Amino acid sequence: LVRLRQRLAGAQGGFGRGLLALLSRERLDEDTWESIEDTLLTADVGVAPTQELVDRLRTRLRVGGAEAQDPREVLREELVALVGPDLDRRLQISGADGHPGVVLVVGVNGTGKTTTVGKLARILVAEDKSVVLGAADTFRAAAVEQLATWGERVGVEVVRGAEGGDPASVAFDAVREGDERGVDTVIVDTAGRLQNKAGLMDELGKVKRVIEKVAPVTEVLLVLDATTGQNGLIQARVFAEVVDVTGIVLTKLDGSAKGGIVVAVQRELGVPVKLVGLGEGPDDLAPFEPRAFVDALLG
Ligand code: GDP
Repeated sequence: LVRLRQRLAGAQGGFGRGLLALLSRERLDEDTWESIEDTLLTADVGVAPTQELVDRLRTRLRVGGAEAQDPREVLREELVALVGPDLDRRLQISGADGHPGVVLVVGVNGTGKTTTVGKLARILVAEDKSVVLGAADTFRAAAVEQLATWGERVGVEVVRGAEGGDPASVAFDAVREGDERGVDTVIVDTAGRLQNKAGLMDELGKVKRVIEKVAPVTEVLLVLDATTGQNGLIQARVFAEVVDVTGIVLTKLDGSAKGGIVVAVQRELGVPVKLVGLGEGPDDLAPFEPRAFVDALLG
């Protein structure tokens, strides 16, 4: 965890540290407040949250205010409040009535879906949970192979179908297999073709319906690439409209100065960020913790 924090700090320091440098100026004049706004917008915090934060900072750090305030402490408190310290970020990985928990992982191709499925399996296995993976991204042979490799690496079974086969039938087979074996959790990788909303809705809707003939879906994780900014947000909205997303996985935070997307996407979808991807390695997935995240931002 310490290592992950360091990585986040290394990549993310820019935006938090930049803000702090601006707020620590002797005179907080209009130019400075404009620079603060620019810094927040560039980091993808979003227009409304940026305005709210700047208003609160202006009030609390007003020149000649009642008491001298430590800008670092004020910024820290306000950033934590913005990120939502009280949202329920627990993953629903357990099922009820003897069924496994079923985690459906959705998102646009290339965002890091398959990698996230592999890393999540690894975390669960490390917690002594039994896991089955479903390779329902049948449209890309490479995705199925990639998941199979993760399965071998982590030591979990991967249920796969014929190439170009029906994703829903693979998802069904995976959940039935997990159900029969009595495992704790089945994680299903899905196809992320954004052909059109109706097509996506048909496909994901069918995957979910078919799975639920065996066991309820307990968690729907939407994977979002932090480096894609506003474009990624638009795509995220489309997914959220077709399936009930219960958590967000924000990947590639390591390579991005745009950590503010955490705030923007939670506002946009009304769903908490539950996990963050901090690299390509097997251990580079971590639960999202608002306070640790803000501390890392501030360096
Ligand atoms: P999918 O098409 O959504 O299943 O995406 P993949 O899982 O194949 O990932 C696409 C690329 O992003 C791969 O090269 C991954 O190694 C890389 N990737 C995934 N997550 C992260 C992350 O958190 N950080 C970085 N730097 N790369 C990542």
